[in-house]
Amino acid sequence: MNNSKKTISIIGGGSSALMFACCIDTKKYDVTLFEKNKTLGRKFLVAGDGGLNLTHSESSAQLSNRYVPKDFILPALEQFSNRDFINWLNSIGVETFVGTSKRVFPKKGMKPIDVLSLIIDKIKQNNVEIKTEFTWKGFEGHDLIFENENQKRIVKSDITVYALGGKSWKITGSAGDWLHFFSEKGILINSFYPSNCAYKINWPESIVKQISGKPLKNCVFTCDDKSIKGEVVLTEFGIEGSGVYPLSPQIRKQIIENKQATIFIDFKPDLRKEELITRFTDHSNFSIKDILEKKIKLSQVQIALIKSITTKEDYLNSEVLSQLIKTFPLELVDFSDIDEAISTVGGISLDEVSTTFELHKLRHHYCIGEMLDFDAPTGGYLLQASFSMGNFVATKLNELNQ
Ligand SMILES: Cc1cc2nc3c(=O)[nH]c(=O)nc-3n(C[C@H](O)[C@H](O)[C@H](O)COP(=O)(O)OP(=O)(O)OC[C@H]3O[C@@H](n4cnc5c(N)ncnc54)[C@H](O)[C@@H]3O)c2cc1C
Repeated sequence: MNNSKKTISIIGGGSSALMFACCIDTKKYDVTLFEKNKTLGRKFLVAGDGGLNLTHSESSAQLSNRYVPKDFILPALEQFSNRDFINWLNSIGVETFVGTSKRVFPKKGMKPIDVLSLIIDKIKQNNVEIKTEFTWKGFEGHDLIFENENQKRIVKSDITVYALGGKSWKITGSAGDWLHFFSEKGILINSFYPSNCAYKINWPESIVKQISGKPLKNCVFTCDDKSIKGEVVLTEFGIEGSGVYPLSPQIRKQIIENKQATIFIDFKPDLRKEELITRFTDHSNFSIKDILEKKIKLSQVQIALIKSITTKEDYLNSEVLSQLIKTFPLELVDFSDIDEAISTVGGISLDEVSTTFELHKLRHHYCIGEMLDFDAPTGGYLLQASFSMGNFVATKLNELNQ
């Protein structure tokens, strides 16, 4: 062993840590990865349950616009873009394909566990030592405290990379229970909130059964100044899906400030309000129900929703109906349980890290991945962020120790 080598401890064994461990130069550093679970990448495997959406194939400019805030991640995305990620996956034996939604997945037949195994093989080839069932328990002076087999273990480390994840799906290990270790060091932390989650709606009793489990497709969903075309599923609890996930920052802000958020749905984005009114007047010999169903082609769910908030008088008013078809209001009164969220915001404040993700108040300590307080919608953007940050910090450290 070369004793002049600096030591690096990576804490966490999720996506961002795995990428860091693949890319760090072990000729320059002695690297150990500590994970509290028995196995690595449990959330990565959960992410693959409904199809492992590794990244998105859109242009770099479009991709970077998905992050809130955006600036902090630009250097990492410039260093390791979605194209770089796809090429890297190919280089370790993970072939990918672009789906109809332009999202990128492992080629058909390749399971998330196969992808994870290839990544772990790469880490092993890179001579990174992996220590599982090591739970980080904070600091003792400048050293790291771990618990392993009910024993306290003290680890000295020249450089530490924290990749502790967010606070959802704690069964995967991402429990967010480490916040106080940082706040005790005077580092600003923000409370965790769910993102990319379901939102609660107090549906009128009369329509719950009719709408529950039903989709709203090809609609435009708006909250504040942000609109998104997508699809949602209405459930007994409320609403979830790609139509509302990208609105999470706006919805969250309203719920925190006002205990409720209002979104507006355009059921017929391809028709202007005036065109809708014309359909009513052109078919005035038809019943309202027939015009809505056959001439405007609303679904039964959309009609049920409209009926649930209109008086008998309004239901006969083409102006009112057309307005509702274009801007149907829904009040969201709460988030789903944070543990069920696809991702979380909160954690280490971005004000606390440099452009290379090093903590200002703890030199040589870096934070990467979902433990940082940023938001991104579903679509592969979360994994892209984790892999980009892991690659970026490893590259910076490889350059440092020349
Ligand atoms: C249901 C679901 C579906 C998803 N689908 C997608 C998708 O298709 N595409 C996409 O881009 N993203 C998806 N995501 C999000 C994505 O999986 C995460 O954003 C990403 O895994 C975050 O990586 P990370 O490295 O920051 O943290 P994680 O992957 O959460 O890893 C953190 C690790 O740190 C360990 N740890 C925590 N505390 C300690 C401690 N004290 N000591 C030691 N180890 C500790 C944990 O056990 C865990 O292994 C999905 C998430 C969920 C829940």
